[in-house]
Amino acid sequence: MAGFRCIGCAREIDPAPGLYQCPFCSSNLEVICDYGSMDGKLVRSLIEKSGDFTARRYLPLLPIEADSPRPAVDVGWTPLYRAAGLGIEGLSIKDEGGNPSGSLKDRASFVALARAAGENADVVCCASTGNAASSLACLAAPMGMRTVVFVPESAPRAKVVQLLVYGAAVFAVRGTYDDAYDLSIEASKTFGWYCRNTGYNPFTREGKKTAAFEICEQLGWKSPDSVFVPVGDGNIISGVWKGFKDLHALGLIERLPALVACQASGSGAVYRAWKTGEKIAPFEGETVADSIKVTFPRDGDAALRAIHDSGGFAAAVDDGRILQSMGRMARNTGVFTEPSGAVTLAVFEEALERGLVREDDTVVLLATGSGLKDVESAITICGSPFTVEPALTDVKRLVSGGALERPDEN
Ligand SMILES: *Cc1c(COP(=O)(O)O)cnc(C)c1O
Ligand SMILES: [Zn+2]
Repeated sequence: MAGFRCIGCAREIDPAPGLYQCPFCSSNLEVICDYGSMDGKLVRSLIEKSGDFTARRYLPLLPIEADSPRPAVDVGWTPLYRAAGLGIEGLSIKDEGGNPSGSLKDRASFVALARAAGENADVVCCASTGNAASSLACLAAPMGMRTVVFVPESAPRAKVVQLLVYGAAVFAVRGTYDDAYDLSIEASKTFGWYCRNTGYNPFTREGKKTAAFEICEQLGWKSPDSVFVPVGDGNIISGVWKGFKDLHALGLIERLPALVACQASGSGAVYRAWKTGEKIAPFEGETVADSIKVTFPRDGDAALRAIHDSGGFAAAVDDGRILQSMGRMARNTGVFTEPSGAVTLAVFEEALERGLVREDDTVVLLATGSGLKDVESAITICGSPFTVEPALTDVKRLVSGGALERPDEN
């Protein structure tokens, strides 16, 4: 790690404890990795010989010390499943629900916590729609750190339960995620807590880039043609973009993929800015995809840059399509992802219809979190069970009445 570069004014900034954003223009910072001195072939062989099947296999490319604490649970190295039944032969799904706390956020928390440990922090804090917080609590508790989280009061129950089970101090804010975000920064500054906030903390992007490393390694050190990424704050898409660029800079992949920013119509700030060419502006709305329900994206500038620089595009789809795609993905591939993960399939299907994806493309959808995190949303589309007496009569009647028919595919 050679320091920070400001996403806004491009100044180079020296790291210091308690420094998160640019002291000159308050934009987010990007970690500069110095790959000039590294030999790509050697890095690849270090990775392949590491014997480590977690995100730590990419240690040579991460801004953390080799002796930084290893998480008690295994983050990353999630499966990449072929999903040829969903439109094109070369489609795969990266199932991030397999992470310890059930979402991609563990990648960011793992790197942020290694940095926090390096600063001898004993309290770590974040604001979250639910997953960032449950991830932080899951990884921090076994390290003996206190976790303080701010979530909107409306966060899905399963995510809040995770927080409480992991022993976090939970502040359920009567307001939106954006309100929780501002409050968490004020509190962190006031109490001197280490702040993991998405985008605000430059190391969240560094953790999230490991998803790109895995995709390339799992495809035999090749980049796909495109990657569909759910976008709320825009930190996953900018982190994943950095990961692809890192591998490209090292000569470990020959070309870069196009990144497709997938949003919900009810929370489309990045989509709107991409479409109009204007700056990111607050977008008020509602969506069932709570993990990407963000009024003002906190890493929006970096997200827009990732879309443009990668030659990708942005799209937004409505809740009906998102929920239908969730069911379709589950039944076709066995991967049950929360609505925010399913938005990728909804956007992919639309892109295929519009000719924005080619039949022979290699495409990866990032299924960012487990469907069990939000069963209330799933219940709205999956109907209810057949209630029967403990006798065969009812079963016979229901079977002849069509109980075994497959769910509607529309
Ligand atoms: C956080 C999250 C996202 C969105 O990531 P951003 O960095 O906010 O764009 C998408 N899906 C899930 C499941 C998440 O937890
Ligand atoms: Zn700046």
